[in-house]
Amino acid sequence: MVITRDDVLEWITRYAEILAENRDYLTQLDAAIGDADHGANMDRGFQAVMKKMPEMRDKDIGTIFKTVGMTLLSTVGGAGGPLYSTIFLQAGMKTTGKMELTLQDWIDALEAGVNGVKMRGKAELGDKTMIDALVPALNALKQAAENGTTLSDALERSARAAEEGMKATIPLVARKGRASYLGERSAGHQDPGATSSYLLLRTAAEQWKN
Ligand code: ADP
Ligand code: MG
Ligand code: MG
Repeated sequence: MVITRDDVLEWITRYAEILAENRDYLTQLDAAIGDADHGANMDRGFQAVMKKMPEMRDKDIGTIFKTVGMTLLSTVGGAGGPLYSTIFLQAGMKTTGKMELTLQDWIDALEAGVNGVKMRGKAELGDKTMIDALVPALNALKQAAENGTTLSDALERSARAAEEGMKATIPLVARKGRASYLGERSAGHQDPGATSSYLLLRTAAEQWKN
């Protein structure tokens, strides 16, 4: 089983829909510990990505990811936009010229993206950021690959790990981003960026399961 170029386009399209559906939810999460714009930011960014669909449709996966990254960079400000942009730009560099991805290709692409976020944002696991969803998801993928699991099984495990990581941000005190300005008062709230990252990986698992 592989992830085809069309699978990638369908994933991005579905994620744009999911973000539109979850716009208010993500904004409410950000209202509690940030500046109430995460839903609007992500929705605006992926609506702009959708406008690039016609020009992305016949390109390789690397070019598609890089186009998503560049579009997010030019349409979404704040912390989240540039960090999501980094995920896609780095994943794009790893997948240059590819028309399909194996499980290992997807792991390499996501790992490059996650490393890019770490380099740029300097957040570690437990800082109450998107890293708390992304890193467990990446580790679950690697573990699944080592165990010789099928692609769809590996993706399901990564989505579940991201969900656990997202929920685990609730009691944490934020150490990065706007939420960190609240100090102890950031505890008791789920991180918005971890939530949008969970949705990204959940959408991949749903979209690429067969
Ligand atoms: P802003 O905080 O600038 O308004 P968003 O609301 O779009 O940007 O995104 C906020 C999310 O970005 C947070 O919930 C967190 O997950 C993530 N984030 C913020 N700073 C960092 C960082 N340094 N490293 C990783 N993720 C971060
Ligand atoms: Mg915000
Ligand atoms: Mg903001």
